[in-house]
Amino acid sequence: MAATGYAIGVDIGGTKIQFAAIAKDGTILHRHQAPTEAQRGPEQIMAKVLAGIEHTREAMEASGAPAGIGIGSAGQIDCRTGAVVYASDLLPGWAGMPVKRHVEEWFGLSVRIDNDVNVFAIAEKVYGAGRNYNSFVCLALGTGIGGAMVEDGRLVRGAFGGAGELGHVSVDFEGPRCSCGNNGCVELYASGSGIARLGREALALASAAGEQAPDWRPESREIIRAWLAGEPLAAQVMDRALRALGAAIAGFIHTFNPEAVIIGGGVAEAGEPFLAALEEQVRTRTSAAMRDACVLLPAYVGADAGVIGAAAQIWHYGDE
Ligand SMILES: [Zn+2]
Repeated sequence: MAATGYAIGVDIGGTKIQFAAIAKDGTILHRHQAPTEAQRGPEQIMAKVLAGIEHTREAMEASGAPAGIGIGSAGQIDCRTGAVVYASDLLPGWAGMPVKRHVEEWFGLSVRIDNDVNVFAIAEKVYGAGRNYNSFVCLALGTGIGGAMVEDGRLVRGAFGGAGELGHVSVDFEGPRCSCGNNGCVELYASGSGIARLGREALALASAAGEQAPDWRPESREIIRAWLAGEPLAAQVMDRALRALGAAIAGFIHTFNPEAVIIGGGVAEAGEPFLAALEEQVRTRTSAAMRDACVLLPAYVGADAGVIGAAAQIWHYGDE
């Protein structure tokens, strides 16, 4: 039998499902993707996951059987049972799906599943910015804010694997109501949708004051672009977003005493100016000893972190 030199990684998101055959060193050997079409229901998503894995297996036939199948999915995943515990409106009906059991029964291979941000943290731990750290916090600044903590080289999982909902840490108990039930969650300010919300507020205030509207629509990428170009109203919006995020990260540093906080996701693609401004916010809000022990780093693995980290579960964290 040929040596099993690859694992299959699957990244299930609200708009697309990515599949890849990944070598142990993180190299992508084969990849493809399918639209999630989440509105067509959970059974359809499950069928697509099985078909996509089958397609990858066939494409890799010459290399023998995969070492296993690693899956990352949006939502809260019970890492003990491999079932979805909670999924937002991005994946309606996905909650309750026993993903691990279906894939195991279909392929008869070792299967591991975790939520997409834990998988991102595994990718950063094994191949990326977290390689040299045993204790770090990951933040994924996308449409929402996802989080993951690695302590002593292992993911912090909580009671069923739900730990790390760092986007739902409140930075203003009198702030706007969040879908989770709390008020003023950091996700309402510093995620893509949060920045867009602050942008709408700023535009409404400027309009009410009779000021000329700036040249951007309230959408996070446009606001970030205008901020980087020095537009004053966009700068006000980003200042609020960065203060909220800085306050939250100061809280995470005081809670976990991490060696690093790794920032990824679409919002973080604003790059060095974003990280520098964030560092300034964190610096002024964190006690000296904790702050000096911790670095703020951009995520390294990039857009493929989902499939790469999903596959890496097969070779790493296997002792849990
Ligand atoms: Zn919340």
